[in-house]
Amino acid sequence: MDSLKNRTLLKVIVLGDSGVGKTSLMNQYVYKRFNRQYKATIGADFVTKELHIEAKSVTLQIWDTAGQERFQSLGSAFYRGADCCVLVYDVNNLKSFETLNNWHMEFLKQANPMDPETFPFVLIGNKTDVDGGNTRVVSDKRAVEWCASKGNIPYYETSAKEDINVDEAFLGVAHKALSNERKQDNIYFKDISASVTEMLEEQPRGCAC
Ligand code: GDP
Ligand code: MG
Repeated sequence: MDSLKNRTLLKVIVLGDSGVGKTSLMNQYVYKRFNRQYKATIGADFVTKELHIEAKSVTLQIWDTAGQERFQSLGSAFYRGADCCVLVYDVNNLKSFETLNNWHMEFLKQANPMDPETFPFVLIGNKTDVDGGNTRVVSDKRAVEWCASKGNIPYYETSAKEDINVDEAFLGVAHKALSNERKQDNIYFKDISASVTEMLEEQPRGCAC
């Protein structure tokens, strides 16, 4: 068992329009399974994944949301202490790309990070598999430009269905989150880390289905 000193809990919030594949990405990443059925996530919940980065035992605590307007009722406590925010859109759905600005703004408003200019975001363009790419409406160039306009957000394209690039995307998220955790004296994280670590040992998974 790692000592607590070498363990790090990183809180990751996943945001984006309903139906873009947030829950599917998390399920593929953590449980290596894909479910064709669409079940709207109710409220918010998290899944966890243990990683080893630079001799550190890292627990990614990945929070899923309903993705609908009502998510706002989750309030700032839900966002507080986040080490990284993952924004997800569907490359076949223009509206889900256009609303990224709103999700980005909403996160910064609610989480209120110490340095909003450098807070780590990651963008994921999901569902690259659909119809062999023929229904795609957002080019990677356009997505990369959006990322550049927000201060060089890393960008990954994935298929949760075919398990393409999912591990790579979340590894990128873990590195981003770790860099933020090192930079900030995150009081919320420090307060809850011990109790959450205990909780995770007893009950290793939250269900986001
Ligand atoms: P959420 O509302 O953002 O959590 O979206 P879900 O994960 O529930 O996915 C919405 C729908 O899109 C479901 O029917 C999924 O099976 C489907 N889906 C999710 N990811 C992919 C993908 O990469 N490719 C394809 N073809 N379908 C996907
Ligand atoms: Mg969902």
